[in-house]
Amino acid sequence: MQKLTAQRQAILDVINRSDKHWDADEVAYALKENDTPIGIATVYRGLAALAEQGLIESIQLADKKRYERADKKHHDHLICTDCGDIEEFCKPEIEKLQDLVASEHDFTIQGHQLLLFGICIRCKGKGI
Ligand SMILES: [Zn+2]
Ligand SMILES: [Zn+2]
Repeated sequence: MQKLTAQRQAILDVINRSDKHWDADEVAYALKENDTPIGIATVYRGLAALAEQGLIESIQLADKKRYERADKKHHDHLICTDCGDIEEFCKPEIEKLQDLVASEHDFTIQGHQLLLFGICIRCKGKGI
């Protein structure tokens, strides 16, 4: 694997230091806090490149991408469209059904993302 530039390494370090799902602005802010400020355009490019190399995972939301560590166990996401909160889950039954669908279509799965969009328990409570 080719060596990362210092900037990309700094971006990767930010992502790897927590379980958060980061957007580019949050990464840029964290880099500034670390005294390693990187311009937002470079952060966007760096995140895309790191995801391309499989060093981080990307999640495509309606308006933007979020990124997380690539070394977490496989999981899917519940995404609150109100507050943006992201919860993780993994249901073996769902995973198995996906394998079944793939075999029915003689299809080889190389990866998948399941995103459930809706309202989280806290935002549901706010409405009442
Ligand atoms: Zn919410
Ligand atoms: Zn996640």
